[in-house]
Amino acid sequence: MSQHPSNEILQAYAEGLLDGSQALGIAVHCEQCQHCRDMLNEYEAAAAQTALDANPTVSESTLSSDNDLDLLLAGLMDALPEQDDLTACVTQMPEADTISVNGREFTLPKALSKIMPHLQPWKSYGGKVYSAAFDINEVDKVSLLYIDKGVQVPQHTHKGNEITLVLHGSFKDENGEYHAGSYLMKDASDKHTPQTMDEDCLCLTLLSDPMVFTQGLARIFNRFGKGMYP
Ligand SMILES: [Zn+2]
Repeated sequence: MSQHPSNEILQAYAEGLLDGSQALGIAVHCEQCQHCRDMLNEYEAAAAQTALDANPTVSESTLSSDNDLDLLLAGLMDALPEQDDLTACVTQMPEADTISVNGREFTLPKALSKIMPHLQPWKSYGGKVYSAAFDINEVDKVSLLYIDKGVQVPQHTHKGNEITLVLHGSFKDENGEYHAGSYLMKDASDKHTPQTMDEDCLCLTLLSDPMVFTQGLARIFNRFGKGMYP
């Protein structure tokens, strides 16, 4: 299973076509992944060239001075599709934020800085699993999820798409092991049982619908699910 976003998604991001939480996921992943950063640079260059071609007043042949370069850049910014509000500042990276949970401190990706003011307090589930949602809007369900080491989360499926980005540590499920930088997309056809091993794990989850538990402690954990992804 690939642990990177597909080329189609990277290209859509470069062209400014992704919605808020999906775009955020790409911005966060590309901070951690050189491979996807390189791909994105290529797609962005191609998108910029397309914008130039569509905007002959700022074509390169008219360049003769620094002023013209400024004009080119200004024209280019106008011609490029506007990136979503959540990721608008990705090119001017602010300082990284840190966060504490379960007595541990983590540095967060800079792409999250803009939404940090929306982060709600941690909720604890038995002192083993913690979640904290970003209260952004009705559509973008973005949460931090912390799982202590040696914990198994009950098997569950998803009603919609769930993107999980591993920020620190690692976990495994039926399909493999995931480490910092992994990008996983699951849909309603995927059942999985995430489990941490000898280290804890901090993830960012981007969810389009609440997840549904399919086995075991389902009654308890469906409430757990609701609390996790309010
Ligand atoms: Zn990648």
